[in-house]
Amino acid sequence: MSLALDANATEPLRPDARAAVLGALDLPGNPSSVHAEGRAARRALEDARGSLAKRFGARPQDVVFTAGGTEANALAIRGLAGDRRILAGATEHPAVLRAAPDAALLPVRPDGTIDLGALDATLAAGGPALVCLMAANNETGVLHPIEAAAEICRRHGALLHVDAVQAAGRVALPAGADSIALSGHKLGGPKGAGALLLRPGLDVAPLIAGGGQERGRRGGTEPLPAIAGFAAAAEAATEPTAARLAPIRDAIEAALAGEALFPGRLAPRLPNTTSILLPGVPAETQVIALDLAGVRVSAGSACSSGKVAASHVLAAMGLGADAGCAIRVSLPWNTPDDAAPRFIEAWRRMRDRVRPRAA
Ligand code: PLP
Repeated sequence: MSLALDANATEPLRPDARAAVLGALDLPGNPSSVHAEGRAARRALEDARGSLAKRFGARPQDVVFTAGGTEANALAIRGLAGDRRILAGATEHPAVLRAAPDAALLPVRPDGTIDLGALDATLAAGGPALVCLMAANNETGVLHPIEAAAEICRRHGALLHVDAVQAAGRVALPAGADSIALSGHKLGGPKGAGALLLRPGLDVAPLIAGGGQERGRRGGTEPLPAIAGFAAAAEAATEPTAARLAPIRDAIEAALAGEALFPGRLAPRLPNTTSILLPGVPAETQVIALDLAGVRVSAGSACSSGKVAASHVLAAMGLGADAGCAIRVSLPWNTPDDAAPRFIEAWRRMRDRVRPRAA
C-alpha cells in the first residue's frame, strides 16, 4: 500500500471539511443577494468567517477570504506596501518572493531561522518598510522567531506580514503580526479558499475590486463550499493532534542519522516535517525512485513546473552544491502509526539503488 508523506504540498481532505463542503453545496444562493436564498448563503459565509476568526484570534471583520495562500500573500504585499520598501526572508515561498520581486532579501542562519540582527540593521538603515516572514518554512519546517521579529519591526515602525500557510493548525500562531496569510487546503480543507487576517484597524487595498465583496478588499463571489470546508478543517486541525506526528518524524531521523543529513534539524520546527539530504543524489532522482516504491514525497517547493531546481531555501542555509539533493517528508494528519519503519525501509532501498557507487 502506498505511503503519502507530502502534506506540505496539500493535506488530505478531513471528513469534517468534506461534510461542510457538501452541506454548503446545497445552499444555492449568492451571499451578496438580498433574497432568502442569498441570506442563507450569507449566514453560512459569516458563520465560517466567525469560526475562523475565533480559531486564529482575529475579529470576523478582519478576515478577508481569498482563493488560497498565494493570493492572501499577494494581497498583503501589494495591498499594504504602498510606498514602503519590502524586506523578505531569503527562504520565503515563491508566493511571497514573486509578489515582491524587488524585495531586499534578509539572510537566514545556518539552522534556517531568520537573522534578527540583519533585520534590525536593515530596518535601521532605511525608511518605512513592510517585512514579510513566514511562520514555518514549507521545505524544512523551520519556525522563525516571529514574535522577536515583530518586536524589532514595531521598534522601527515597520509593518510585518506573516505567511502562516504551513504553521496554521500545526503550531500556535505567533502574536505580533500586522497580517497573516492562511490556506484552506494546507489545513485539510478543499483547494480554492484561503484568507488574509488583518490586525484591527489595518486596511488593505484590493488586488481585484470587482463587486466590492469582502468589504471592498477582494471582489468576486465568495466560493462558499470551499470556505465552509476551510473553516471546518481549521476547527479539526488542532495543535495537540499535530504534535502526535513529531515522534514519527523523530523516529525517521534517529534511524537515518549517520546515513543522511537533516537541514534545519537544530532549529524549532513543525512537528510533521523533515528535510532529508542525500549528498550527491539529485532530489528528483530520489523522489522518482521513492514514488516507484509507493512512497510519495516531494523535492521542495520548486517543482510546480514539473522540473526540480536546487532549493533556494537550502542554498540560503549555506548548503551549496547539495542544495538540490534533499527530499521533503511531511506527515499528513492521517499518517499511519507504522509510517516510520515503512519509510525507513523504502528510503534505504532507494538509497542503495540510486547512490553513485564508489569507484
Ligand atoms: N506559502 C507557503 C509557505 C506555502 O507552502 C504555500 C504552498 O505550498 C503557499 C504559500 C501557497 O499556498 P496556496 O497553495 O494555497 O496558494
